[in-house]
Amino acid sequence: MTTTTDIPEDLRKRQEQLLGTLSTGLYIDGTWREAASGKRFDVEDPATGEVIATVADAGAEDALAALDAAHRAQEGWARTPPRERSEILRRAFELLTDRAEDVALLMTLEMGKPLAESRGEVSYGAEFLRWFAEEAVRTPGRYSVAPDGKSRVLVTKRPVGPSVLITPWNFPLAMGTRKIGPALAAGSTVVLKPARLTPLTSLLLAEVLADGGVPPGVVNVVPTTTAGDTTGPLLADPRTRKLSFTGSTEVGRSLLADAAGQVLRTSMELGGNAPFLVFPDADLDAAVAGAMAAKFRNGGEACTAANRFLVHQDVAEEFTARLVEQVRQITMGPGTAEGVGLGPLVEAKQRQKVADLVDDAVANGAQVLLGGQVPDGPGWFYPATVLTGAGPDALLHRQEIFGPVVSITTFADEAEAVRMANDTELGLISFVFTTSLARGLRMAEVLQTGMLGLNSGVISNPAAPFGGVKQSGLGREGSHEGIEEYLETVYVGIADPHA
Ligand code: NAD
Repeated sequence: MTTTTDIPEDLRKRQEQLLGTLSTGLYIDGTWREAASGKRFDVEDPATGEVIATVADAGAEDALAALDAAHRAQEGWARTPPRERSEILRRAFELLTDRAEDVALLMTLEMGKPLAESRGEVSYGAEFLRWFAEEAVRTPGRYSVAPDGKSRVLVTKRPVGPSVLITPWNFPLAMGTRKIGPALAAGSTVVLKPARLTPLTSLLLAEVLADGGVPPGVVNVVPTTTAGDTTGPLLADPRTRKLSFTGSTEVGRSLLADAAGQVLRTSMELGGNAPFLVFPDADLDAAVAGAMAAKFRNGGEACTAANRFLVHQDVAEEFTARLVEQVRQITMGPGTAEGVGLGPLVEAKQRQKVADLVDDAVANGAQVLLGGQVPDGPGWFYPATVLTGAGPDALLHRQEIFGPVVSITTFADEAEAVRMANDTELGLISFVFTTSLARGLRMAEVLQTGMLGLNSGVISNPAAPFGGVKQSGLGREGSHEGIEEYLETVYVGIADPHA
C-alpha cells in the first residue's frame, strides 16, 4: 500500500474560502444564532488533527427553542399543499447538486473520506430529496365497503408531527437527507441533531434547504457536544411526536427506552455485523470487486461494511490471494489528496478501537497478511489490513470493526455458512456471492438480515427500503416505506349511506 499527502493548491484555496463563509451558528426558526450559553466547540480535520472550524454548542435551552419553532411551524407545513412541499424539496435537490463540490469538500474535511467518495455521497444524499419530492404527492388513503356492507371504511394519512432526528458522523449528508426528505415530504417539521464530529455538512444542508424555500421553523439544526443532555428534554416533551435515530445499537437501545416515556413513534437505524459469503460456485472476480466495495468504501466506517468474510474452503486461498493483490493497490492519505482510496479514521478513539480489535484477533490466532500497524505521523490513519484465521472468540467477529480490516474465515458447507452468518444479534445486511440462482434465493430466505447484496458489494439506493432486523433496528428509510415512517394512519368509520 502506498501513501500520499499531495493536496492540490486549488483545493486548499477553496477550503479556505468555504470555511470562511460557512454559517456555524445554530439554525433555529430560520435564523442563525449563538448557543444560549455562548459556548462553541472545535471541529477537526481527521487527516491532520487541526481545528478547521468552531461551531455553536447547543444545550437543552437551545434544543427546546428549536422544538418550539418546529411545533409552531407544524400546522402551516402540514397544510402546505403536497405539490408545494414537493417543489421545495425538488429545488433543494437541485441546489444541493449545484453545490456538490462544496458539500463534498466539507465532508472530506470534517470526516476524512476521499473526495471521490464524498462526491458519491452528495449524489446519493441529494437523491433522497428528489425521491421524496416525488413521494410527497403520493400518499393516498382508501375507501372501502366493510365486509358486512353496513359501514364504510375511510383511511387517510397525516403527518406524524415534530420529529427529532439524530444522525451519526459516517455519512454526514446522506443520513440527514434520508430523514429530512421523507419528514418534509410527509408534512412533518424537524429538529436535527448531527454528530459532534461532523456538524458542518448539516449546517450547509440547512443553508441549502432554506435557499430552496423551506420556511422558518420547518428544519432546525442543533449541533452539540452534550448529546444526551440536549436531546433528552426533547424526547420528554409532549410536542415531540417522533424520534428517528441512526447510530450505534447501544445508544439506540437507550434512546428507545427514553422514547417510551412519550410513546414516541421511532425509527432506529442501528449497527451491523455483515457477513460476506463466498460460495464455491461464485464468480471470484465479482466477489473480489464486491469485497473491495463492501469493505473499503468509507474506510470501512459504514454500518453496511462487510464485517466477517466467510469463504468456502475450496476457494478461500484463491479469493484471499486475489483480494490481497487488490488491497495492496490502495493509496492511503488525506481525502483531499490526489488518487487517495483510503482516508484517515474519524478520530483517535476510533483508530485505537480498530487497532485493539486487530491485536485481539492476532491473540486469537489470526495471521496478518497485510497492514495491521498504526503508522507514524499526523492524522488518524490506519492501513488497509487483511487477516485470516482469527478464532471464533475474536472480538472483531462480534463487534463492528468500523475500519479498513478484512478478516477471512472458512466454511465447509452451506449449512455451516448460514449458521456462522446468523450467529450475531445484529441483522442489517448480508452479502452473498454465488452463480446459483436457487442458492441466492435460498439465502434471501434463511439469512437473518434486512438487506441482502446478491453478487453486489454496495446496494444502498434511495429507491429501496434500507433497514435491519434483530438489534439492527426498527423501520425503513428510503423507498415508499421511508415516507410512511413520518405519516400516521387515521381511520374514519362511516355509517352505511343507504341505511
Ligand atoms: P453513536 O451511536 O455514538 O452516535 C450516533 C448519534 O447519536 C450521534 O449524533 C451522537 O451524538 C448521538 N448520541 C450519542 N449518545 C446519545 C445520547 N445519549 N442521546 C442522544 N443522542 C446521542 O454512533 P456513531 O459512532 O456516531 O456512528 C456509528 C454507528 O452508527 C455505528 O454503529 C453504525 O453501524 C451506525 N450506523 C447505522 C446506520 C444504519 O442505517 N443502520 C447508518 C450509519 C451508521
